Amino acid sequence: MATERIEIPLIIGGKEIRTGKTGQSVMPFKHGHVLAEYHMASPEHVQQAIAAALKARKEWAAWPWEDRAAVILKAAELLATTWKATVNSATMLGQAKTAFQSEIDAACELIDFWRFNAQYAQEIYSEQPANGPGVWNQLEYRALEGFIYAVSPFNFTAIGGNLSSAPALMGNTVVWKPASSAMLSAYYVMRIFEAAGMPPGVINFVPGSAGPITDTVLASPDLAGIHFTGSTEVFQSMWKAVGENIANYKTYPRLVGETGGKDFIIAHPSAGPQAVAVAIIRGGFEYSGQKCSAASRVYIPQSLWSEVRDRTIGMMKQIKMGDPRDFRNFLSAVIDRKAFDRISGYLEHAKGTAKVLQGGGCDASEGYYVEPTLIQTDDPAYRLLCEEIFGPVVTAYVYPDAKWHETMEILDKTSPYALTGAVFATERSAVREATSALRNAAGNFYINDKPTGAVVGQQPFGGARASGTNDKAGSRSNLNRWVSTRTIKETFVSATDHSYPFQGAE
Ligand code: NAD
Repeated sequence: MATERIEIPLIIGGKEIRTGKTGQSVMPFKHGHVLAEYHMASPEHVQQAIAAALKARKEWAAWPWEDRAAVILKAAELLATTWKATVNSATMLGQAKTAFQSEIDAACELIDFWRFNAQYAQEIYSEQPANGPGVWNQLEYRALEGFIYAVSPFNFTAIGGNLSSAPALMGNTVVWKPASSAMLSAYYVMRIFEAAGMPPGVINFVPGSAGPITDTVLASPDLAGIHFTGSTEVFQSMWKAVGENIANYKTYPRLVGETGGKDFIIAHPSAGPQAVAVAIIRGGFEYSGQKCSAASRVYIPQSLWSEVRDRTIGMMKQIKMGDPRDFRNFLSAVIDRKAFDRISGYLEHAKGTAKVLQGGGCDASEGYYVEPTLIQTDDPAYRLLCEEIFGPVVTAYVYPDAKWHETMEILDKTSPYALTGAVFATERSAVREATSALRNAAGNFYINDKPTGAVVGQQPFGGARASGTNDKAGSRSNLNRWVSTRTIKETFVSATDHSYPFQGAE
C-alpha cells in the first residue's frame, strides 16, 4: 500500500464524485510521503448528499430489519477476512498505528461493533409491550424522520465505521464526514459497505473542510440527528448551532456525542508499584496517548512514588518509537502538524513550570514525533492535570499517604471531563471507597487495570460531564437513540355503546 498513491472521491448516492479540489493523506511518521489525494466537498455536494440520503431513506427504512442487519453482518465478515489486511494497513500507514493497535481498532473493534449491533438491534425490535384482553399492543421502532450527520475522529478507524453504520442499521440514512487525517482507512471502510451490498445513498461519504460542510448540514430542516465523536469544543459548537436553528427543524435532532477526556490513574498505598507503572506505560503512551481513554494524570501516594517513578522511567527508556512497519516500535508519530504543535506547546510550558522526569523531546523534521514524557507537579490544579493534551504526556501528582480521601476529592474536581479512570489497590476497602467517591468522575471505571482498551460487548464505552452524552458506543442504548418509537394499539372488537354499566344503577 505504501507504494501506491490513490485518489479518493466523494461517494454520494452510490456515485463517485471528483470535485477537483483536493487534500492529501500523508504518513504521519514520514509526512513527505503522500498516500492519497482526496476530493473535497463543496456546500453543493453536501446538498446532493442530503438529497441522496433522503431519497434512499424511503426504501431502506421500509426494509425488514433482518435485511439491513445482513448488510452489516456481511461487512463484518468481509472485514474479518478478505478486507482485513487492507484496512489494517491503511490504519498503520495513514494514522501511524502499530500493527497491534491497528488490529485491535480497525479489525477487531469494528467487526465487534457491526456484529454486536446486529444482536442489539434484534433485542430492541423484539421488546414489545403487554396486551390487555382483546387488545394487541405493538411498538414500532421507526427510523428517525430525516437524515443523520455522522462526524468521525481520526484516532479510531472503528469509530468512523460505527458512527456511520449504527444509525443506518436502525433504518436511517447518513451523511458521513470522516476526519481528514484518517481518510485512507475511512475510504476503505466505505468500500466495504459497498461490497457488503449497502444500497446507494444509505451512507454518503463526504470528505472535506469540516466548517463549511457542517454549516450546510446543520442548516437543513431535515437534520434528524448527529452522531459525533471528537473534541468537546467541536461538539459544543455543533450543539449551539442546532440550538440556534431549532425552530427550523422538522423534528428535534438527536445529539449523540462522545468527546474529550482527562483520564486518570489513582493508586492507593496498598497498590502494587509494577502494576501501576505498566498501566502508566500502556494506558498513557500506546498510540502516543491519542486515545480518548488514555491515562494523562496520575495520583500516586508518597510511599509508592519512588518505586513507581523508577519503574516507569525504566520502561520508558526501553520502548522504541518509529515507523509502525518496524514491529519493534511501541509507538509512532502523532497524527499531524496541528497535534504536534499543540503537544509540543504543552511540553514547552512544562519545562518552565514543572519537573520533566523523562522524555520531553519532539522533532517534526521527518515525522511528527513526540517522545513519551513523564512530568511531575506539586500543584494539584496544574494546567497539565486539567486540560486534554491528546499526546504521549503523563503528569504525576504525588500525595501524602494520609490524604487518600482528600486526593480523590481533588481528582474529582480537577477537570471538566469524566471519561475513563482507574484505581489501583489491593485493599478491598480502598477499592470500595474509590468506586464510590469517583462515581461521577468516569463513565468507564477500571479497578486494577489501565483505563484504555474497552471491548465492545464487554465494557460499553462512553463518558459524562464534558466527555459526552454517554450513550455508550456499540450498545443497545446507542441504537435506541436512532429510533423513534410508534405505539400501536389495536382493539379486535370495537366498543359499540358509549355508556358504562354503572350508569344503569338507580
Ligand atoms: P476533532 O474534534 O478535531 O475532530 C473530530 C471530527 O470533527 C473530525 O471529522 C473533524 O473534521 C470534525 N470537525 C472539526 N471541526 C469541526 C467543526 N467546526 N464543525 C464540525 N465538525 C468539525 O477531534 P479529533 O482530533 O479527530 O479527535 C480527537 C478528539 O476526539 C479528542 O478530544 C478525543 O478525546 C475525542 N475522542 C473521544 C472519544 C470518546 O469515545 N469519548 C473517542 C475518540 C476520540
